[in-house]
Amino acid sequence: MVNEKIQAAEENLIHVYNRFPIVLDHGEGMYVYDTEGKEYLDFAAGFAVTGLGYGNKEFEEALKEQIGKLYHTSNLYYHESCGEAARELNRVCGMDRVFFTNSGSEAIEGALKAARRYAYTKGTGRYEFIAMENSFHGRSFGAVSVTGHDSYREPFEPLVPGVKFAKFNDLDSVKALAGDKTCAIILEPLQGEGGINLATQEFMEGIRSFCDENDILMICDEVQCGMGRTGNMFAWQGFRVKPDILTMAKAIGNGIPVGAFAMTEKVTQYSLKPGDHGATYGGNPLACTAVKTVIGIFERERIVDHVSKIAPYLTKRLDELVRELDCVTERKGKGLMQGIVVTKPLAEVNKKTIEEGLLVIQAQGNVIRFLPPLIVEEKHIDEMIEKLKRALQ
Ligand SMILES: *Cc1c(COP(=O)(O)O)cnc(C)c1O
Repeated sequence: MVNEKIQAAEENLIHVYNRFPIVLDHGEGMYVYDTEGKEYLDFAAGFAVTGLGYGNKEFEEALKEQIGKLYHTSNLYYHESCGEAARELNRVCGMDRVFFTNSGSEAIEGALKAARRYAYTKGTGRYEFIAMENSFHGRSFGAVSVTGHDSYREPFEPLVPGVKFAKFNDLDSVKALAGDKTCAIILEPLQGEGGINLATQEFMEGIRSFCDENDILMICDEVQCGMGRTGNMFAWQGFRVKPDILTMAKAIGNGIPVGAFAMTEKVTQYSLKPGDHGATYGGNPLACTAVKTVIGIFERERIVDHVSKIAPYLTKRLDELVRELDCVTERKGKGLMQGIVVTKPLAEVNKKTIEEGLLVIQAQGNVIRFLPPLIVEEKHIDEMIEKLKRALQ
């Protein structure tokens, strides 16, 4: 049975993912189960998506109810939750106007277009983007164009013109690339795919002032690090450095495909106008129900406070690993978005973590990345560490 399912996938899907040979069936809380009934402790959350874990009854009921009423209508009309989801998301992310997309990449596309449109209206002639080395912004053309890994870009060149790459956390390297054509600077406050690299306070503040002085827009990509993961609702709030445009996705829908880009009133004034942008599915009733329900649950269950309280325990246990195991050389990251640098080949370690019944993700720089559902408790962290230790032996 399992082999048949895997074979059907192998024979019919375009092979762009290196999947593990397991077939997942259902989830509950912090765990997912395969079709054979094997349990996996989930420290991946489907790439930081299922923040609320699996089987959240309130979330499921809200979606079921919406499916029973209306799951799609075009953006030619309002629907019951579009305004509410937008208002709630703006409130928690600190922005003024939001556009709903279906993914993170699409949020990036929209953000880049919004920045270009801002410059166009103002007639500044600015069109260039400065992005960061080791960044990851998605797989569509615009998103790949600002992604700081040659391997993601090279096979698809020529890409969107006018993109330059600065060194992350090096303000001078940003300034050296900037000029009177620079339209926006895009960065992840905490890089995920690029190896769990946290921006310094100085870098965030430096970018903000530099943008203000030169009428350049600051775009923060919080597709991965947003929505509670760093111990703030959004990572920029922890830095108290507010971007002009913010991109979101992953955890805002807890698994329902939804992303968003949001902007301040200052940007809105000059940016996208009717007819400039759109998305057939974007912000449909199911997606908006997901977003508003997720925010409601986050606030009632104080998920962000929980992340702040539990994260130091993850940090402590990972620091112990660095001290105890020769093959673990460093811990990185913040909140429930952390990683360890290991000297063993990750392919080998990954095979063993699967055997042990543990889901983790790798990142650039031989990093094992931990992105558990935000409902994780100490006992799960202990269980993860035990399994990981065996896998690293
Ligand atoms: C995952 C990710 C994206 C792309 O999101 P998709 O939904 O996969 O298109 C963009 N930016 C960051 C920081 C991400 O982690």
